[in-house]
Amino acid sequence: MKPKVTVSLPQHEAVIVGAGFGGMGAAIALKRLGIDDIVIVEREDDLGGTWHVNRYPGLAVDISSLTYSYSFEPNPYWSRLFARGDELKRYADHVAETYDLRRHMRFSTSVQGARWDEEAQHWVVALDKGEPVAARFLLTATGFLSQPHTPDIPGIDTFAGKIIHTADWDDSFDLHGHRAAMIGTGATAVQLVPEVARQVDELTVFQRTPIYVVPKVDTPIPGVVQELFARVPLTQQVARLANTAMLEAMMVTSVLHFRQAKVFNHAAALLAKAHLRAQVRDPKLREKLTPDYDFGCKRPTFSNEYFRTFNAPHVHLETERIERIEPDAIVTADGGRTEIDTLILATGFNLWDVNFPAIEVIGRDGRNLGKWWRDNRFQAYEGVAVPHFPNFLTLASPYSYSGLSYFTTIESQMRHIRRLLKELSRRGASTFEVTEEANAEFLDRMTERLGDSVFHLGSCATSNSYYFNPHGEAVILRPTSTINAFREANNFPLDDYAYA
Ligand code: NAP
Repeated sequence: MKPKVTVSLPQHEAVIVGAGFGGMGAAIALKRLGIDDIVIVEREDDLGGTWHVNRYPGLAVDISSLTYSYSFEPNPYWSRLFARGDELKRYADHVAETYDLRRHMRFSTSVQGARWDEEAQHWVVALDKGEPVAARFLLTATGFLSQPHTPDIPGIDTFAGKIIHTADWDDSFDLHGHRAAMIGTGATAVQLVPEVARQVDELTVFQRTPIYVVPKVDTPIPGVVQELFARVPLTQQVARLANTAMLEAMMVTSVLHFRQAKVFNHAAALLAKAHLRAQVRDPKLREKLTPDYDFGCKRPTFSNEYFRTFNAPHVHLETERIERIEPDAIVTADGGRTEIDTLILATGFNLWDVNFPAIEVIGRDGRNLGKWWRDNRFQAYEGVAVPHFPNFLTLASPYSYSGLSYFTTIESQMRHIRRLLKELSRRGASTFEVTEEANAEFLDRMTERLGDSVFHLGSCATSNSYYFNPHGEAVILRPTSTINAFREANNFPLDDYAYA
């Protein structure tokens, strides 16, 4: 990054990094406070974050759209309960237009780093093109799943056919007639496997760790219901509440309050196993697809098609360890050789090496956020603030992810931002910084709460879950109910911050 500030730098009230739903939510929160001098920097060429980048066939939400959207900007016209990717992208465009966000955005621009200038009392943000920008506030909304992971399998660079990562889908590539392999069986593969199977001659799916999949109650939303949602918004709010409560019970309580709600956890695991049994007759195949870790150790997903796709004669599940890749084949540890001409990497994202944080952030006294997190523990007060980082809010942080829908997270963060910046203004101060004590108290509390979760009490050793960081701590999810997250966003002690 370019190190030193110059007085001629352009000044802004705020820089937001990321133009996905997180960055847009942050911008809406600021604009509602009258802060309009905002620059939103986005490395991609358009807004929408994950819903702009991901375009693989079968892409859809796996959290119902009733819940997976801003509560203050409901879309009565979702075409189905689980909207497809392109509909989500259109919703993102609609939000940007409604809240006049596009004019703040600088696309195809990467942030190279940000440094707090103590003398000037502002952030200096270095970009890959043009002059650095300086701003009073820095908000990073870089997402959790934004750095694709390409596996370092021996020989992968010698492969002679086409390699496609799911996060970089090639729309022009026709899969018909191909012998394809897919590596990975996460939530992305669960959506993609049935689609690819429909097109290719042969598909071999290489699974390292099976995933829990529960039924997806998906259906088109009839026009008459859409009209009802549009005319009587309360009906959509009630539907949202019911869906969110169901997710909270099954996916959040059963995982985070495992000690108290083990029965929910076992019920969810049983549901997934019954779903598998209903769809796959072959007991050997079923066994391979059955997780040997507790439900929720890694992110479960929803699908009605994934399991049954493996019944097709041209679809194969390979569970042997991949030893190497050759120009025309994948070779497994048992000597098996699968000849292929196309390799699909559904290998997910790199969280812990490159994403916490996604850019270099240097705070007061030269504290480097990424180094500090790694030398100490991953931590962020209420999932948004870090001591020694004045006027900085980090939205993709340890303990920030609340509930199963990302919108729960961003909306509770928007409330936190509002309360904090209103207090800053009320005091006539220009900087805020969370105190060491408040941060330590929050970390202790979250650590204690994690003790109740499946991550501590369950059997997660074989889950290979990205929830766990290199220290072995599962610090992505906030280990509280979403109601607690909202309550604290509305009521956190204002003196948890120092103002100057
Ligand atoms: P993921 O859950 O991290 O899955 C990556 C898969 O690749 C895993 O099965 C992993 O195996 C496998 N893998 C990675 N490196 C490998 C290697 N060297 N050899 C063999 N296998 C390897 O990634 P994802 O499926 O892209 O999903 C990421 C997240 O995105 C999900 O958890 C979910 O939160 C989100 N998502 C959401 C939706 C939605 O509809 N809302 C859809 C898709 C994804 P291991 O498990 O053994 O590591």
